[in-house]
Amino acid sequence: DFVLSPDYTFSNFITGPNNQLAYAASVAVANQPGTAYNPLFIHGGVGLGKTHLLQGICQAILTQRPETRIVYVSCEAFMTQFIESVQRGQMLQFRHRYRYADMLVIDDIHFLSSRERSQEEFFHTFNELYQANKQIVLSSDAAPSEIPHLEERLMSRFQWGLVANVTKPHFETRVAILRAKAKLRGVDVPDEVIAYMAQRIDSNARELEGAITNVLAHAALGGRPIDLELAAEALGDQINQPRSNHATLQQIIDVVTGYYSVKLSDLQSRRRHKSVTEPRQICMFLARRHTRYSLEEIGGHFGGRDHTTVMHSIKTIEERSQVNDGFAREITALEERLDQAPA
Ligand code: ADP
Ligand code: MG
Repeated sequence: DFVLSPDYTFSNFITGPNNQLAYAASVAVANQPGTAYNPLFIHGGVGLGKTHLLQGICQAILTQRPETRIVYVSCEAFMTQFIESVQRGQMLQFRHRYRYADMLVIDDIHFLSSRERSQEEFFHTFNELYQANKQIVLSSDAAPSEIPHLEERLMSRFQWGLVANVTKPHFETRVAILRAKAKLRGVDVPDEVIAYMAQRIDSNARELEGAITNVLAHAALGGRPIDLELAAEALGDQINQPRSNHATLQQIIDVVTGYYSVKLSDLQSRRRHKSVTEPRQICMFLARRHTRYSLEEIGGHFGGRDHTTVMHSIKTIEERSQVNDGFAREITALEERLDQAPA
């Protein structure tokens, strides 16, 4: 009585340094449920493939051994069923369903936070299955020790097997994901357009999928070829949204001066040597993308430059990163450092 998405298979999952361990562990669990890693605990931010991997495990097992009794639920469904079973006096059925499963897969287990009675019930479910060598797979938006208001005994059990983290994909992985999503839709997207999109959409696979949908829709509805111009238009809305993770000018300056070994006084000076102008332009580009300062304010901060100079700088960086993959990666690396900068 659960639905698996036919797209969420191992073969449709793109691996990279950001998810290699979680993927390898998922495959191992599917091949040897109950023995390889028990429990398998996958954690990471939204849109990074946790649900995809969980369903991938289920589908791989069902292909090999269709008779396997898998219970795959969201944590919310588990809690709702628990509460309703208590209210209706149907705990026997509830326990039968969960404790006689061959494998239990619960998505977004962090929702157990602060839910004391559900935690208690899940604790007993876990123990029963674990003792019977039944595979348990869990996903969460946080590591076991970082789920607030979670009983100590559950936290420790979550760490008994393998804890695998999924993080944001790097540039190359984003390129691979975009290629795969385009291929799934049977459309050829030119490499330069893929690179352009991968450079601009740097958050997660869900947004990359959204970007492909966007670009293909613009092409189909406008009857136009898929080129850089079209991609720029299609992505306009998506990338101009304010980012959830705002940077301060100070963070941008720290990251850029650290990376290029230049001094702030150089950035603010009139010097026109490339070793100074490029980091200065990058600062302006990052300030435009990651802060709410106006072009004038940004110019004021970097040596009293006017808004046309700032616009020119931003355009220079954008164009350079479109034609130069190495440079695009540098920008991505800087943005990753910004994301990790302490608030
Ligand atoms: P999460 O559960 O971590 O929030 P999902 O598993 O729902 O993320 O992934 C969001 C979307 O992105 C899904 O459509 C999924 O297929 C896709 N996706 C995520 N990671 C990958 C990946 N590594 N390769 C291919 N598609 C991915
Ligand atoms: Mg999910």
